[in-house]
Amino acid sequence: MPTKNDEYARPATPPDSSNLSTVREAAENCTACHLYQRATQTVFGEGPKKATIMLVGEQPGDYEDVAGKPFVGPAGKIMDRALEEAGLDRKEVYVTNAVKHFKWEPRGKRRIHQKPNSREVAACRPWLEAELRIVRPKLLVVLGSTAGQAIFGPSFRVTRERGKVLSSKLALKVVATVHPSSLLRQPDEESRHREYKNFVADLRVAITAADAD
Ligand code: SF4
Repeated sequence: MPTKNDEYARPATPPDSSNLSTVREAAENCTACHLYQRATQTVFGEGPKKATIMLVGEQPGDYEDVAGKPFVGPAGKIMDRALEEAGLDRKEVYVTNAVKHFKWEPRGKRRIHQKPNSREVAACRPWLEAELRIVRPKLLVVLGSTAGQAIFGPSFRVTRERGKVLSSKLALKVVATVHPSSLLRQPDEESRHREYKNFVADLRVAITAADAD
């Protein structure tokens, strides 16, 4: 049953500019869906404009919302470590999210992450499209189901498609893998270790595919 807030979502309208700073500044004032109301700020993508690889996550988390930067919390740190192990410096990649504001609900004094729904993802998609249009990466890495569905549609399943080189209208080469936050939620050391290795292996597939013609 859609709530009143779910209905408050229309597509964002980025400026038709090839300047990343211009688009980023416009995103700071986006009110296309209700998520801006409870978040601290827009968390736009970050990284070199000429990056070969773009990584797309779900949405900023608590740390990112405060810092105004993507992937700076615990999930970002494990992702940085995995990227390095796979042979890539975080500074070389462009990192962003499918949804640019933190969606959360209060639980006591804590802000608990809430998964963005399909209307919110659709409302925010023009910002991701603008980033792809400007950066034009050779390969896109989608991290988790929300990012995968933003690119491929609602039937996309990361469990089925991870580690393969796929293609979409938005990017010629796409590799899907899990969101790094899922590595932090593993129940024990053994599964944490196994899932981390699988994550690094997916990143290696992406790096190899990006290097190929
Ligand atoms: S989540 Fe995206 S579409 Fe919604 S207000 Fe924020 S930037 Fe705009």
